Amino acid sequence: MKKYLLIPGPTPIPPRVSKAMTQPMIGHRSPEYSEILKRVFENLKYVFQTENDILVFSSSGTGGMEASIVNLLSPGDKAIALAGGAFGERFVKILKSFGVEVIPLRCEWGEVIDSKLVARELDRNRDIRAVFATLVETSTGVVSDIRSLGKICRERKTLLVVDAVSGLGVEELRTDDWGVDVVISASQKGLMTPPGLSFISISERTWEASETSRIYRFYWDFKAYREFLEKGQPPYTPPVSLVFGLDEALKMIREKGMEKVWECQKRLAQATREGVKGLDLQLLAKGSFSNGVTAIKIPENIDGLEILKRLREKYGVTLAGGQGQLKGKIFRIGHMGYIQFKDILVALGSLEKTLLSLGHRLKRGEAIRRAKEAYQRVGE
Ligand code: PMP
Repeated sequence: MKKYLLIPGPTPIPPRVSKAMTQPMIGHRSPEYSEILKRVFENLKYVFQTENDILVFSSSGTGGMEASIVNLLSPGDKAIALAGGAFGERFVKILKSFGVEVIPLRCEWGEVIDSKLVARELDRNRDIRAVFATLVETSTGVVSDIRSLGKICRERKTLLVVDAVSGLGVEELRTDDWGVDVVISASQKGLMTPPGLSFISISERTWEASETSRIYRFYWDFKAYREFLEKGQPPYTPPVSLVFGLDEALKMIREKGMEKVWECQKRLAQATREGVKGLDLQLLAKGSFSNGVTAIKIPENIDGLEILKRLREKYGVTLAGGQGQLKGKIFRIGHMGYIQFKDILVALGSLEKTLLSLGHRLKRGEAIRRAKEAYQRVGE
């Protein structure tokens, strides 16, 4: 059976990327590898929209989150973490585990935290060293207003760290224009590469702050990566094949252009949301919808796990369930990375049949009709 992977990471891999990863192995201290690395850094800067240094780590996104904390702060430092879902909460947990005094700003999951609350908290506590935010809260499908957080933090000379693990290459993000000091991302979502690499962009202000940070670190130490960056090499053995794949994926993004990538993601997301409404289902968020993942409430009389099971077994369609407090309450359609409108139509059509088989009432054909209409409308 043909498989359709519509989860918010790992995302499907374009054939060009899969093919690139089958190249014969090369040494990571070879001139050939330096050449690839040079191109990868240049293209990553384009995707991050930054002139800042970018470091590449062999880790998942969480490794990147931890690295950003251990290079920036010291035990006893104060930081704000915006926690509107499972990944914002992960920042809170990591910060706490290193002895940082965290002020969590929370909201109901599915809502967005008002940037004004951050400004108020920063004005109340002048000794806060950094604000940690999430571009797309993958667990709720909500996007944060990073532009306004950037302005607030810059005005108060506080560092802004943004988890863009599921947002980079999906959602508009202008690292330099918006004044984001640290941006963390990973390979397996918008960047259409298998899991295993994380990326961190670091502003000059962050390098200065890292000079005084007193958390023990070795593998994550930014300094070692920067020294080797100057030599055109990684400090430790990298997953070479993944870098071959990343190189190809970044070329694809560059060929398309960032504005176009964001625009395509927006169209897919709007079509998905309209389709979901056509199934007579409700979206979790009321606004600030992400362009990469849509969270949908499970109707009360239906078993959510059964929806996902039937979709997978009968139609080869994999969607994601809820996380944390939303487990069993929502399911999510991922539409980031190498996903096309055809994939969304397959997901909606399969969902329609599955929901009907579970007794949900809906108007047949309405989801596809609304999705198509929205897709055309946004494209005009
Ligand atoms: N932050 C966000 C916003 C994410 O979506 C994820 C992964 N779903 C992570 C962090 C953690 O990344 P990883 O699973 O690669 O460690």
